[in-house]
Amino acid sequence: MRRYPKVVLTADRTLMSPYRGISLASFFGCAPALDFDRDHNSFLYHVLRNQVTPRVLFDFICNPIEHTNGYASYAPYGLRKVEAALIRDGYRREDIVVAHPDHVEKFIGPETEAIGTYEMDPLGMGPVTMTFTYGRKHMSYDEFYNRDLHLRINAAKARTGSKAKVIAGASGTWQYNYDPAKIEEYGLYGIVEGELGGIGPEIDGAAGPFFDALIAGEFDRANPFKKSQFKVEIKEFVRNDKTLHGRFIHYWNEPSIDEIPNIVNPSMHGMVEVMRGCGRGCKFCDVTLRPLRYYPVEKVQKEIEVNMKYGGLKNAWIHSDDIFVYGLNPRTTKNMQPNREAIEELFKGIMATGIEHTNPTHGTLAGAIADERLIPNVSKIIKSGPDNHIGIQCGFETGSIRLIGKYADRKLSPYRPDEWHWVVKNSIKTLNENYWVPAFTLIMGLNNDETPEDSWETIRLIHEIETEQPDSKFTTTPLTFVPIGLLEKSDFYDIGNTMDPAKLGVMYKTWQHNFKYGIQKFMSKVGRDNPIKDWFFAQLASTLGGVPLSAMEKFARRKGPEHERVIEKIKANYW
Ligand code: SF4
Repeated sequence: MRRYPKVVLTADRTLMSPYRGISLASFFGCAPALDFDRDHNSFLYHVLRNQVTPRVLFDFICNPIEHTNGYASYAPYGLRKVEAALIRDGYRREDIVVAHPDHVEKFIGPETEAIGTYEMDPLGMGPVTMTFTYGRKHMSYDEFYNRDLHLRINAAKARTGSKAKVIAGASGTWQYNYDPAKIEEYGLYGIVEGELGGIGPEIDGAAGPFFDALIAGEFDRANPFKKSQFKVEIKEFVRNDKTLHGRFIHYWNEPSIDEIPNIVNPSMHGMVEVMRGCGRGCKFCDVTLRPLRYYPVEKVQKEIEVNMKYGGLKNAWIHSDDIFVYGLNPRTTKNMQPNREAIEELFKGIMATGIEHTNPTHGTLAGAIADERLIPNVSKIIKSGPDNHIGIQCGFETGSIRLIGKYADRKLSPYRPDEWHWVVKNSIKTLNENYWVPAFTLIMGLNNDETPEDSWETIRLIHEIETEQPDSKFTTTPLTFVPIGLLEKSDFYDIGNTMDPAKLGVMYKTWQHNFKYGIQKFMSKVGRDNPIKDWFFAQLASTLGGVPLSAMEKFARRKGPEHERVIEKIKANYW
């Protein structure tokens, strides 16, 4: 009998935390961890050394997931899919371990053949992280803990003489193309990439054949003449006169719904998926490159039941690229008009499982109001109310009519780009009236095409909403542009070096909004019933909320009068 499993699957701490039950806090992994350039004579260095967000605070919020003898009790949904796919494809349950990151060493030994790491932002290059770390000038917690995981895996391999191949997968693996030195540093055997490089492949369609080929050594040497569903590419990178190599393994089949396995163990935050792909075609997004597929209600219910039965979960976090697209055919549906009946049936089926709370992860603002009965009807089904707010992430992207029309016109369908401001304002009203709270993301430096006038349009739009709807509830998170999707050939927006005054203004305004309208007014009132916890989180949030504002004011002083004038203008006219 084997003492060690054949396959170990794991993810770093930032992806394996319940974040104390606040699902939106999972963004906290993007926070800056270390500043290697801090002046050793500074006061901060004497207090915190290199730490930016104190580690003790981060570790408190990002509390480790539960486990049983090192087996993770909950795991990222994508990792659970790979586990389920391996079992479907003939691997025995005892051959696979989904390991808790703090106990991964226990499972690595001479008989371990493959270690799969699930990576969403391994090098801290995701849009949120790039914003918080000034374009990787600081090391983020995402990168810090991913690095920590790989170093520990390598130490365990060295200690036990394990020859296990470490393979990195999931949606963040594109980042290794931009910092290939990490491939060697982390001892990665291979990196799984989709057909277009930037998009994570849906490996759950062929997990068994993939791991079989990996273990059999078929990826060791690429044989271009052998027909295979996996293509091995040895990429060469030249960095600072050094030539680096990385083995990238591509897979490009998109499994049909029947080929996507159901999870067999509980997922993190009770996440279950209801669709893959999105037909809206925003140029800066890679999700839209995937064919659109919907889970039937029964398949969704089966996964929720796994989470309830084995994880004791009472909520279902519905992974949806645009929930308001669910059930429609973008080729034949005029103007992307939502299929209200299908969406209602989906949520009725979800609630019929007996869960107490559900919310979709993403949805478009235009989709939310395109059918005026949609949000009120769904709200009744999922029982939203003053004590049951429904959080949803929505792409606000930009206040610029020019940019939204140029890069995301179908995101607005059935409306026109010149109606964008009306769409934003009305959807906030409709969502809030039905106890939904949108968490907006904005893109700074979209395709490096954002002019100062575009930025001011964004600032003005946020301010207009605040003044016209003073009780509205929403948050705004600015993200820096990352070249993925149809814009993958573009350059990153370099926030650290090219933040012009107006873009600093967007960042300042969004944080001021979060601080004043989001955190101070709202945070303590949402979904908490413990007064001590309430008080603690309100204090924590308001302290943390003020930090970025002071940091930006300091940054403006350093940059010069033009940047300072923007801050003053916002304080005077848009506060
Ligand atoms: S609506 Fe969202 S998921 Fe769909 S293409 Fe646009 S950004 Fe991507």
